[in-house]
Amino acid sequence: MPIRNSLNIGDAKITLIEEMVMPTSVKWLLPEYPEPYGLLEKATPWLKPNYINEKGHLLQSIHSWVVEVDGMKVVIDTGIGDSKNRQSEGFEGWHMKQGTYLQDLENAGIPADSVDFVINTHLHQDHAGWNTKLVEKTWVPTFNNARYKIVAPEWDYWTSDEIGPIPIIEDSVLPVFKENLVDLVSADYKLSDSITFEPSHGHTPGHVCINISSQNQTAIITGDLLHNPIQCAAPEARPTFDKDAAPARKTRISFLEKYANTETLILGTHFHHPAAGVIRKDNNFYRYESVD
Ligand SMILES: [Zn+2]
Repeated sequence: MPIRNSLNIGDAKITLIEEMVMPTSVKWLLPEYPEPYGLLEKATPWLKPNYINEKGHLLQSIHSWVVEVDGMKVVIDTGIGDSKNRQSEGFEGWHMKQGTYLQDLENAGIPADSVDFVINTHLHQDHAGWNTKLVEKTWVPTFNNARYKIVAPEWDYWTSDEIGPIPIIEDSVLPVFKENLVDLVSADYKLSDSITFEPSHGHTPGHVCINISSQNQTAIITGDLLHNPIQCAAPEARPTFDKDAAPARKTRISFLEKYANTETLILGTHFHHPAAGVIRKDNNFYRYESVD
């Protein structure tokens, strides 16, 4: 898949490495929303042409954002991964996938062994998959020279008795712990002068957004606080995979309110290319305006 936009926020260079694109629908994303077609109609003028296809399907992307700043390379979210057994729980094309992700990273000038830090906004299977790769039937850390920053409440949740053993933890997180490359951090952790975590639990218990600030410019990586720009028009609606609906709704609405009509660049973790834009609010209605 292609390497997508490379953009700058002050001194930070930000690159999107696309792993997969999949079409979805409003009905799938927001199953409880009473008028999916009305919502689609309302948002289509500004979803077009980047975030919706000619059949009226929403376009979702799975990708990593890589930030180069403060003398370090940081990968934020690691997609699905190759060779992962996702038969029981994944989507079409995820199970035992083979792709060009590592080659794409290298082509972008970011070979895996040059990465200094890996951040998972949360530990869903489309955000932590490339934490590891398969080498001679063993899962080993993909980014073998990196420290992996995982939010402690997120880790606690996925390893609690309530959840029990699940594949993403077994094949993509525990092997990184085994090599002593993980630091459990707080949800408001500051990685460097330019990169800080913003707590945004709800989608999962330790979910975070990632703020990048440099030279008076700011961008924020959404994680799954938003899955698709159409949610700007229906922030109260519960998306399929939000664990705790009420706090997720609250953080989503206050996020939109905070960044609406500002110059903060919103970098979507599942937004189709170009996954960069700003939030605008007029007549009590939020929308997303992409920036090419
Ligand atoms: Zn996701």
